[in-house]
Amino acid sequence: MARVYNFSAGPAVLPEEVLQEAAAEMLDYNGTGMSVMEMSHRSKAFEKIIGEAEQDLRDVMNIPDNYRVLFLQGGASQQFAMVPMNLMKNRVADYIHTGQWTKKAIQEGKIYGQVNIIASSEDQVFTYIPDLKELKISDDADYVYICHNNTIYGTKYNELPDTGGKILVADMSSDFLSEPVDVTKYGLIFAGAQKNVGPAGVVIVIIREDLITDDVLPGTPTMLKYKTHADNKSLYNTPPAYGIYICGKVFKWVKKLGGLEAMKKRNEEKAKILYNYLDSSKLFRGTVVKKDRSLMNVPFVTGSKELDAKFVEEATKIGFENLKGHRTVGGMRASIYNAMPLEGVKKLVQFMEQFEKENI
Ligand SMILES: *Cc1c(COP(=O)(O)O)cnc(C)c1O
Repeated sequence: MARVYNFSAGPAVLPEEVLQEAAAEMLDYNGTGMSVMEMSHRSKAFEKIIGEAEQDLRDVMNIPDNYRVLFLQGGASQQFAMVPMNLMKNRVADYIHTGQWTKKAIQEGKIYGQVNIIASSEDQVFTYIPDLKELKISDDADYVYICHNNTIYGTKYNELPDTGGKILVADMSSDFLSEPVDVTKYGLIFAGAQKNVGPAGVVIVIIREDLITDDVLPGTPTMLKYKTHADNKSLYNTPPAYGIYICGKVFKWVKKLGGLEAMKKRNEEKAKILYNYLDSSKLFRGTVVKKDRSLMNVPFVTGSKELDAKFVEEATKIGFENLKGHRTVGGMRASIYNAMPLEGVKKLVQFMEQFEKENI
């Protein structure tokens, strides 16, 4: 078995233990004589799978009872529309613009109402998180929207905007379960699974109960109402059952390793090794302002397109996969999610040191 070090931004590396367990259960899940893929989503066995997945996530994130956990489909991108359809009662919302993922959310929000961009880091190619002290929250805003960790530019919020009591909505797709979260600060958190918790096809929504109502924008399809899924415990229609099963295993893995405090420690340790090297290197440099650096996605460049390409090519040859930067930014990006082992980061840095010696 030859596993590579997969630095993909998503779909991304999953814990080997989880994959092995799933492989062992592929033909016969827990004495049912069938795979979870072949199983009725109304069966006792699946009810247990989704129930445990929710409970384990609640335990790990310390989700209060007045929040609902939904396992939905359509990816994080579907939430760009679902959020305004369900929450934009006054048809006004404030967005903080930190890159590609908020751009798309803003575009989608504009279909439904007035979107105010109350802060942006576009002037410096999204290499920082805007100053949150000067924010002017709109009086009539239905919510304030952020992308908690920008997967493409590698920025992360280390503090949250003061929304003056307005609902805070966060896209946490790329740093979900990477560190402790105070869920009570948010009205709604969503995360596509394929970055840090499972296979593509599942999006997790954590939503405060009072925000789940029938009072949605006219024309909102049944499938895009949070209430539909909350009332039916994510089983209104056939859910992405196999994906939920894998997410459940990842939640158990996180729990076993000591929960989110332990994840944070691991992630900080890994990120530090890479950032320390980037800060001392004469060839490579990180592209993000230090205080806003992501623990999950680490973009870097050499300053030469040719050397960048050479680096990616040589890295791939020896089993460091998917280090090419996003097509819109170029350079390199190492995504070092929860499941990337410490050893993978250490070996990457060793390789970078060697490449530096040979190319400077
Ligand atoms: C990947 C990503 C998305 C888009 O996810 P899809 O599941 O492909 O729709 C949205 N937001 C962030 C922060 C992401 O990293």
